[in-house]
Formats: sequence, structure tokens, C-alpha cells
Amino acid sequence: MSPIDDLPPLRAVIAEHQLSARKSLGQNFLLDLNLTAKIARQAGDLSACDVLEIGPGPGGLTRGLLSEGARKVLAVEKDARCMPALEQIAAAYPGRVEIINGDALEIDPLAHLTAPIRIAANLPYNIGTELLVRWLTPKDWPPFWQSLTLMFQREVAERIVAQPGSKAYGRLAILAQWRCDARIVMSLPPNAFTPAPKVSSAVVVLTALPEPKFPADAETLSKLVAAAFNQRRKMLRAALKGFAPDIEDRLIAAGLKPTDRAEQIPLEGFCALARTLKT
Ligand code: SAM
Repeated sequence: MSPIDDLPPLRAVIAEHQLSARKSLGQNFLLDLNLTAKIARQAGDLSACDVLEIGPGPGGLTRGLLSEGARKVLAVEKDARCMPALEQIAAAYPGRVEIINGDALEIDPLAHLTAPIRIAANLPYNIGTELLVRWLTPKDWPPFWQSLTLMFQREVAERIVAQPGSKAYGRLAILAQWRCDARIVMSLPPNAFTPAPKVSSAVVVLTALPEPKFPADAETLSKLVAAAFNQRRKMLRAALKGFAPDIEDRLIAAGLKPTDRAEQIPLEGFCALARTLKT
């Protein structure tokens, strides 16, 4: 198979810049450029898009995104050791790569991006969920991004696409599925990464819907779901009693049974309850 670009293989890049993986930064690198190009293809047509990539590391996915035609990649990487490798990629794709050496939780990428924007990342496991929740809960909808193509530990990916009645169903499923189409599109075994993590991984694609599937106030829904799943084994009338003195009436008004448990309630039911609770 022909290489995706004229840059050195990733193993050589890692050796040259001495990028030994650091656990504290969640570093499990993808070194197979055919695989990173395949992940980039899951992100859809990138040719008219700016792509925000969090945690490019030595740049395997960055190279995949560029070879798949991304108009521009904004790469935000905390580890300064990766900068020379990323600068080499920027030089090979003039005008199409911007690198920020910083913490993705601290920086505001919007000043560096032009719509339409997509996000793609093999996320560091320690901040992956926090970033996802931030991207899913902006004040206004639609969000600044059109789609998220994200690698997670398999267990987190399953929580994002989970359906009512399953153990994985919870806050993440509701937040993701309320305003996005969410699908697992690829599964990867531990040995796809260097070093191999203990668990399997999966790529999830979340596509922002123009409007939420059911009307609800975002803040009320978010708080409601957090409280309901915080005590997921309890009946809703007990788990949500702090929400309103007449919570039983409100549950009934929303078409729910006060004795139901959070994990049985579909998205539509939580949205209906959020509407009855909004003052
Ligand atoms: N994208 C590369 C790949 O697929 O081979 C690396 C993925 S590795 C799982 C996660 C990357 O995120 C590492 O390069 C790590 O240094 C970086 N990282 C960790 N915490 C970060 C943070 N707070 N902000 C930005 N990057 C971070």
C-alpha cells in the first residue's frame, strides 16, 4: 500500500524525537497510518472543514485528517516534546496546520477556527469525558461543531450510545442522544496502540442535529438526569425528591410512574419531565 504522505513512518518520528509514552498524559499512540486515515474517513467530507484535533501526539491522526483532505487542522497538544514532530507535519502541508502547545481544558479554540468545524481526536482517557460533556452542553444549539469523531475506551463509547434498560445507560447517553445522532463506527483492540492499553477502544461519531429530538431546557434536563442517575437504583420519586415538593405529581404529569427507576426512562420521558419542572 502506498504511504499516505512523504513524511517518515511514525516509529521513526517517535525515535527521532524521543517520544516515550507518558501514562500521566494518557499517551497510547496510533502508529498505523492506514488506520488513522480510516478513522479520519469516518469524520465525513473534511475538504470544506476546519478540524479541531485534541491531543495529536506524534501526529498519526493529524496526518490521516490531512491526507483525507481537511481544509485546516488545529492541533492542541499539551506535551511540548511533540512540537517538533507536529511542526514537521505543518511544513509538509503548508497553510493547513496550526499547532497550539497547551491544555485543551484551558484554551478557547474558536478564535483559531472558521466554520464549518468538525472535531476529531484520539482523546487522552483522563479528560475525554469532560471534553465530550463540554461539547455536548453549550448554551446555544446547534453547537460550533458539525460532528465529533472520537476514540474512547470501549466502555465509555458504550455509555454514549446506550439504550434504556442497559447498565451503560445514563447521563452520557441522554446528553449525547438528545441533540446528536451517536454511533459506534469502529472497534479497536488494545494492540492497535503503542503502548497497548489494558482495554479495548471504539470510535464514536456524533453528528449534531439541527434541533433537539424533544423540547426541554438544557440546564434543567442536565441537572435532572445527573440527579436521577446519581441514585440509579432508587425510584424516581426518591431520587428526585430535592427537585420539587410535588415531584410525584410532576412525574405523573410527564407520563412517568413515581416508582420507575432512571435506567428505565427513555430520553423522551426525561425531556417531558424537564418541561414539567422548568419554572
Ligand atoms: N492522537 C495521537 C494518536 O492517536 O496517536 C495521540 C493520542 S493519545 C491517546 C492522547 C494525546 O493527548 C497525547 O498526545 C497527550 O499528550 C495529549 N494530551 C493529554 N492531555 C491533554 C490535554 N489536557 N490537552 C491537550 N492534549 C493532551
